[in-house]
Amino acid sequence: MSENRSPMCARCPARVCENRSGKAGDPPPSLEKAPGFCPMRGMPDVFSLAAAEYEKAPVREFARMASLQEFQCYERLPDGIRAKLPRIEELIQFSRKCGYRKLGIAHCAGLIREAGMLTDILEKNGFEAVSVQCKAGAVPKEAIGIRPEEKIFGAEKWESMCNPVAQAMILNRAGVDLAVLMGLCIGHDTLFIKYCDVPLTVLAVKDRVLGHNPLAALYLSDSYYRRLRNGID
Ligand code: SF4
Repeated sequence: MSENRSPMCARCPARVCENRSGKAGDPPPSLEKAPGFCPMRGMPDVFSLAAAEYEKAPVREFARMASLQEFQCYERLPDGIRAKLPRIEELIQFSRKCGYRKLGIAHCAGLIREAGMLTDILEKNGFEAVSVQCKAGAVPKEAIGIRPEEKIFGAEKWESMCNPVAQAMILNRAGVDLAVLMGLCIGHDTLFIKYCDVPLTVLAVKDRVLGHNPLAALYLSDSYYRRLRNGID
């Protein structure tokens, strides 16, 4: 019987779904030890619906490529499993697997240098790279209702808005095989994803103070970033 509770994998003590002690060919693990909030208990129909999607050849093949790429990111050594590939290498390998030739970088103006470096690397590895940065269009922020006092560089300055809708449209029109998100702001990335019609992956997420590594704040949330745990205004 399904249980009507919101899924909460992040707080799971059992992780039954990982079935670490299972052997290939075994039946799926029993849900006896799964918590009440487990989606395998509460939403069993979703897994049937998802399974039907994987029956579709393109979805199945894409999922297979992604899992193959995941596999290639590790090596099994006598002392255990070790991860071996940085994400940029994964991007290159995965794009080759999928037969992608033309990659489109949607980047933040603040990461133009990094976008150039990525372009060099992609080209060196045989891809065509196109890129469009967030300020493309040169539309002043006033166009979306930003008030003078809400501009970063000062009320009297021209400030171009980030234009993720245009970024997505440009990459769609350029006919890229894969869009690569690179450091768009929160919310701007959401809009980009909404308007992007091609397959999309994320290479970098912006964190202005932590070197684009937002998880650093989690790792420091019992020390320097304790205020996060106390609840911020
Ligand atoms: S799917 Fe179920 S068993 Fe797996 S982590 Fe989520 S709650 Fe835990």
